Amino acid sequence: MKVAFTEIGGCGGCSLSFFRASPELTPNWDLAYHPLQLNTGKIPETAEVFFISGAICAQDGERVELLKRIRANAKTVIAFGSCAAVGGIMRFFVRGVREPRAWQSTHLPLGEFINCDLAALGCPPPPQSITRVLYRLSAPKKDGVNPYAKLSKITHLSCFDLLDDIVNPKLCIGCGSCQASCPTLAIQIIDGVPEFIVERCIRCGLCYARCPQVIKKWKKEAE
Ligand code: SF4
Ligand code: SF4
Repeated sequence: MKVAFTEIGGCGGCSLSFFRASPELTPNWDLAYHPLQLNTGKIPETAEVFFISGAICAQDGERVELLKRIRANAKTVIAFGSCAAVGGIMRFFVRGVREPRAWQSTHLPLGEFINCDLAALGCPPPPQSITRVLYRLSAPKKDGVNPYAKLSKITHLSCFDLLDDIVNPKLCIGCGSCQASCPTLAIQIIDGVPEFIVERCIRCGLCYARCPQVIKKWKKEAE
């Protein structure tokens, strides 16, 4: 399988996570590009599976065009990490804040420009998520709900989505998975119900992606 990984505008954490997973996975891969591991100086525009991390600057026409060419040539595009999938912390970058490229402003997830096939959330996603997402790619679950495919069609997620879709409709079972997933400790389970410190939310969407009740809801919708 010809695999490539590139970062299109992020902090580099996702690249590192991918790099850490690679020793176990590379025997089955023909890795065409990776900024840390195999930097050929030119991002290839074809691969069977293309992992892309980072949110994209809407004002950077060159990058947007590159993204569209990658989409046109790759069989499967995977938005890797919360910035690529749902915008994440990159949504907070506004003009003048992001030195040294202060001319850049709006950063959006890949799904605002192209159709992604799968998305793995996390800030960054753990190395193990690569194995899981690839497994789902080759062996979809019998119930027909592939959470990575579902997530690839969502372009924004925050604690408010969990609040609106699960907590307020009283679907929450108090399992604590959202609290355990949150990288900024923005969630506390109090009396069996999640409470949110919204100022801490970086819009990574992990609490939503890891909630068992969300998966249940998706399964019901698929019936
Ligand atoms: Fe409730 Fe979902 Fe959080 Fe579990 S993960 S406590 S079900 S909101
Ligand atoms: Fe991510 Fe935490 Fe915000 Fe949920 S509450 S979106 S896990 S930062």
